[in-house]
Amino acid sequence: MVRAAGRGVVSVLTCYSVTHDVTSSQHSRAVRPARRLPRRGTRLHPRRRLAAYDAHRGRAPGRRVADDDLPQLGRHADAARRPDDPRVVRGRDPGGRRRGHQPAPGRAAGRRGGEHHPDAARQRAVRAHRRARRRVDPALPALAPRPLPGAHPRHHRRGDPGRSGHRRRPRGQPRRHRPGTGPRGARLRAVRAHHGRRPGRGRRARRRAAPPARGRTAAVSAPDRAPRITPGLAGAPDEVDVVVIGLGVTGAGVALDAVTRGLSVLAIDAHDLAFGTSRWSSKLVHGGLRYLANGQVGVAHESAVERGILMEVTAPHLTHAMPMLVPLNSSVTPVQGGLTRAGLVAGDLLRRGARTAAETLPKPRRLSRTEALAMAPSLRPEGLRGGLLSWDGQLEDDARLVTTIARTAAARGAHVRTRARVLSATGTSVELRDELTGGVTTVSARAVVNATGVWAGDLVEEVTLRPSRGTHLVLRAESVPGLQVSVFAPVPGESNRFVLVLPQPDGTVYVGLTDEPAEGEIPDVPEPTEPEIGFLLDVVSAAFARPLHRDDVVGAYAGLRPLIDSADGSTADLSRKHAVLTSRTGVVTVVGGKLTTYRRMAEDAVDAAVAHAGLEATPCLTRRLPLLGAADRSVLAGLESDPRLVRRFGTDAELVLSNAREVTGLSDEELLAPAAEHLPVTLAELVFAITHEGAADVDDLLDRRTRVGLVPVDRLLVAPLAARALELVEKSLPSCR
Ligand SMILES: Cc1cc2nc3c(=O)[nH]c(=O)nc-3n(C[C@H](O)[C@H](O)[C@H](O)COP(=O)(O)OP(=O)(O)OC[C@H]3O[C@@H](n4cnc5c(N)ncnc54)[C@H](O)[C@@H]3O)c2cc1C
Repeated sequence: MVRAAGRGVVSVLTCYSVTHDVTSSQHSRAVRPARRLPRRGTRLHPRRRLAAYDAHRGRAPGRRVADDDLPQLGRHADAARRPDDPRVVRGRDPGGRRRGHQPAPGRAAGRRGGEHHPDAARQRAVRAHRRARRRVDPALPALAPRPLPGAHPRHHRRGDPGRSGHRRRPRGQPRRHRPGTGPRGARLRAVRAHHGRRPGRGRRARRRAAPPARGRTAAVSAPDRAPRITPGLAGAPDEVDVVVIGLGVTGAGVALDAVTRGLSVLAIDAHDLAFGTSRWSSKLVHGGLRYLANGQVGVAHESAVERGILMEVTAPHLTHAMPMLVPLNSSVTPVQGGLTRAGLVAGDLLRRGARTAAETLPKPRRLSRTEALAMAPSLRPEGLRGGLLSWDGQLEDDARLVTTIARTAAARGAHVRTRARVLSATGTSVELRDELTGGVTTVSARAVVNATGVWAGDLVEEVTLRPSRGTHLVLRAESVPGLQVSVFAPVPGESNRFVLVLPQPDGTVYVGLTDEPAEGEIPDVPEPTEPEIGFLLDVVSAAFARPLHRDDVVGAYAGLRPLIDSADGSTADLSRKHAVLTSRTGVVTVVGGKLTTYRRMAEDAVDAAVAHAGLEATPCLTRRLPLLGAADRSVLAGLESDPRLVRRFGTDAELVLSNAREVTGLSDEELLAPAAEHLPVTLAELVFAITHEGAADVDDLLDRRTRVGLVPVDRLLVAPLAARALELVEKSLPSCR
């Protein structure tokens, strides 16, 4: 549920009780040792702690503002788009081409002549980094697609030093001393809002981070699209530079960041890619308006910058501009309407400050009553005066973003393994269980990053988290007919509280979200409760002409946000800003944040790991690194491949189809046929999920590589096609299964 946070505002400095460094002695006093519970049994604190948290935030108990929910309704209007403006049509990108930036003809994305020379590559990486540091938020040109596999020779041959998974310390030689390990080196460090400065780039970090090693080239090595995401641990390296635990958006981002800095990486998940919170989001790419309203200019700016990077550089193929409508009806007073308009203007200033093009995210504007009803014909017409239209980013799908990041990391040389659970971790090793065989093994690492989200406290006792649940409903498009925009449905009787109605690219509509304390052991898959479902239905029914009923709900899902206990006994909502914490044993934990800011979280975590372990690594490159399949929107619009595959795989759409042809021998017609009339999932993408994305069973295919599983009846319909895909791959490529 969205609550505007203009009230109870606390100062920027007091908003984050975790934004401090404490010494190890302070640490032991300040952070209560957590009770060890069985696996995934977590250190949950009693409900009364929430009241303390709320008091700290200056709010009534239980009235916390969740930051994965929406832009604070800031407000404005004036831009001049017409109701028939094509950009208003959901799911179409606005054709955004970056101002003045055109990829040079014939210049492939991210790679130019001479890049295959190791030193030249490294120097370019360093130059790029320096440029990025000079221009805090550069307008980033979207890059043209990379060539298909085989177009570039690999940079590393087997045995190259620095190659991912390669043992860089000869066997038998003593390990280097790792500064900061052991009790004396322990520290708890969380990231501040940095107001344009890059945390981890301070004097201390610069002093400790080693310069890039000569001849290390993995940072700019050509992507290898061969499948490297595999279930289980067979053939995994037993010594790497960095072990990343958890393959949600954060862990996948850390793996990509680390491998592109030239570090060898093993990234693992106990279940599957995007198994945790990362698949239960609202699928929005937030611009940070809410934080601006709270006075948190740095956090707001960071969100807006990361939104721009995601939409214009890293994943234009997986994101699009989403129009959002605030209906001005009888529950919104003229004063509230005016405030909302002012907020939307501020949101647009954020966009401009982040140098995101208006072609990517158009300016907000006011709508007449007729225009509002044209975009959302099912709105309740009584008392409707008009509407306010603004734009934010929307993901094609959150789990697809995670899968694409993980695949990009794997293509750059990271070992990405699912079905591998970390049983225990220190800063220099992890004990792993292969969930397929039950075998337990130990992997040595020079740095260990814990990116296990709400489960982070299971592995690092200094981290004490308490989750809160956010629930969404899934409706069919017919339940809110003709809806072309997302709608903020005001909560009746409350000012500045909203529920969002979000049309999705697959023809469903999500309604969310709630913010309820989740007591007890953290479940693998959180469940929405009936009161939450009833609440969401009631709010939407009040705003729309046709009341919604329980029968309209074809699916529902819930995700958990982490609240972190802090040194002074208070808590902080990490959905607002992430934290990076280094434990006594040297495990770097990165927790909180948003899908939108995953890249920045990964950068901060790898900076911390590099500094802590004294690793030799190039500077972060991901700000300018397109994910696999990414391309300028004009390039994507010109692709002739199947439109669904382009939306989900970008320039790799053709690779997805040719791979399926090769593996199955079936015709394009059969490979691209929708699974059912209203279910556009294709056999081609299911086959690709198995051969290239580590999908191991029907659940992986239906719940994470596609999202059919969000609607149980659809799941039943598509399950046979998923089983068929697994059989076809098994027959043709037994090693993939
Ligand atoms: C309801 C809700 C809506 C949201 N909506 C948005 C939104 O619209 N936009 C946005 O930007 N952000 C949103 N967010 C925030 C965003 O979803 C999260 O910040 C993000 O997904 C967290 O990702 P993560 O990788 O840190 O954690 P997770 O996705 O939870 O990943 C943790 C992974 O660690 C694995 N793991 C756990 N223990 C172990 C172990 N011992 N060994 C190996 N692996 C392990 C798990 O299997 C899991 O895959 C939302 C959050 C919630 C709760």
